[in-house]
Amino acid sequence: MRVRKKKHGAERLLACAPVMAEKPESPIADSFRDFGCHAPLYLEIGCGKGDFACGMAKKHPDRCFYAMEKIGDVLVIAGEKTMALEQRPENLRFCRGDAAELLDWFREASLSGIYLNFSDPWPKKGHQKRRLTHRAFLSLYLKLLKPGARIVFKTDNVALFDFTLEELSSLGLTPLFQTRDLHRSPLGDGNVMTEYERNFSSQGYPIHALAVERPR
Ligand code: SAH
Repeated sequence: MRVRKKKHGAERLLACAPVMAEKPESPIADSFRDFGCHAPLYLEIGCGKGDFACGMAKKHPDRCFYAMEKIGDVLVIAGEKTMALEQRPENLRFCRGDAAELLDWFREASLSGIYLNFSDPWPKKGHQKRRLTHRAFLSLYLKLLKPGARIVFKTDNVALFDFTLEELSSLGLTPLFQTRDLHRSPLGDGNVMTEYERNFSSQGYPIHALAVERPR
């Protein structure tokens, strides 16, 4: 995601401290540390401006959500939007971090679900390893999930969707469900939209989605 460099970005991020999680000294094993309750933990990776995470947190008050984003100037937008809400969800924290460092954040088998929404496609073949659905990343996510917990992935990008199916297959995994037109599928009932999703679907691009679970 491209964003113009924000003035006073660091101070603005600090002002959002109530909705931010600091990188922990040891990985998070349960939801107690940031949320004061023991609800199951869910993670969105590459949350952008935060609409999905915020929508999911409101929809599921019985779950705790972390929303990770590597670009501080993007996270500021998510943080400020959430801080400005009249009813700020208590069960949501944004984290500034890179997916490659997830094991510093979360303990193995600690997460009840992982969401990847409109991940950067990195179209050049030489950049495959940067895609957040490359098999190395998928293996990392599987480690972090509890047995039976799911990765849910949405994209408008056909090549990235096809690539993801191949990567899953290389790990011996078959999706629990997949659709190449989420908004015209019953699977889309109750779907919470992201900023990219609203933008691409309004331009007529069908939204692809799949879910896969960590084998029990
Ligand atoms: N999920 C949002 C944004 C999609 S753009 C939406 O659907 O609207 C992809 C986002 O992922 C960008 O904001 C980018 O900065 C972030 N991202 C890319 N690689 C990442 C990584 N390795 N770790 C964390 N965030 C990442």
